[in-house]
Amino acid sequence: MIDPASIAFDIDDVVADTMQLFLDIAREEYGETDLYSEDFTCYNLEDCLDLDPVILRKIFERIIDGDYSATLHPIDGAVEVLQRLADSFSPVLFITARPFAGPMTKWLPCVLDVDQKDIEIIAVGDFDKKAGILVERNISYFIEDRLETCFKLETRGITPVLFSQPWNRKTHHFTEVHNWRELESLIEFETRNPEL
Ligand SMILES: [Mg+2]
Repeated sequence: MIDPASIAFDIDDVVADTMQLFLDIAREEYGETDLYSEDFTCYNLEDCLDLDPVILRKIFERIIDGDYSATLHPIDGAVEVLQRLADSFSPVLFITARPFAGPMTKWLPCVLDVDQKDIEIIAVGDFDKKAGILVERNISYFIEDRLETCFKLETRGITPVLFSQPWNRKTHHFTEVHNWRELESLIEFETRNPEL
């Protein structure tokens, strides 16, 4: 069981449904109607999507900059579990490989409906820099969808929990969750005495 004080989260495709946002931008802004979530079979999308690399790069830039009219939705169940977590321990820590937190600093507290002070977002700009911050912050568990990052974290003594996505369906030995309900069941929330 995971202590709420010892857990941190990736954002894209763990908390935020960034894959769906990518599909929405591709369809609405670039007329790419023939892309499906099942096509996202690898993390480097140029290797698995039948999409012009220039358009691919533009969509990524727009996502990072928050420059889109489509709506970024949270992944099912994330809001409830993260609110519960923020109730028992705060700030809840998020570490993203984005180069800057940018639009996430507004999006995250807004969708979670929590105070800005109850969450902390650190943008490290590089997948390999996540482990250092986690060690510094004394975090033992990290929820991540990029399998390569999980292996890296493990070498630094962090226990990764893999959030299942189409691009991480490969052999591994990590704890894996398929949704936020499963993740919730791994966290040791305080049981409050109802009479108090
Ligand atoms: Mg991610």
